[in-house]
Amino acid sequence: MHKISRQIQFCYGHRLLNYEGKCKNLHGHNGVAVVTLESRSLDDLGMVADFSDVKKAVLPWIDEEFDHRMLLHKDDPLVPLLKAQGDPVKVLDVNPTAENIARLIFDHVKSAGFPVSDVVLWETPNCSASYSGE
Ligand SMILES: [Zn+2]
Repeated sequence: MHKISRQIQFCYGHRLLNYEGKCKNLHGHNGVAVVTLESRSLDDLGMVADFSDVKKAVLPWIDEEFDHRMLLHKDDPLVPLLKAQGDPVKVLDVNPTAENIARLIFDHVKSAGFPVSDVVLWETPNCSASYSGE
């Protein structure tokens, strides 16, 4: 099995709803998403996929969806306040945990047609979450 990975760095803010701990407060991360593709065979160029094609499919989407945005659960009472201020908010149906962000990125990469094996989201240099499909 061949695997390739592409890292994408982005900044985001969030807080967790119904959570007792530091992450209930608004805070931010310099996140790193590591998108890994896998294939049993290589194309005619000897690649799983062209790194630049992965970048083109994923980087603009992450920039638009997550970069420098506040990621909040749809029931977070801050959503209407931040929207009224014109702040960039990304509203999720789920808590904006590293696990759920990794899954959203995985689903996007898969829907773009890439043979994604997993997405790891490094929230800090010490903490990561990964998703590898059902
Ligand atoms: Zn956090």
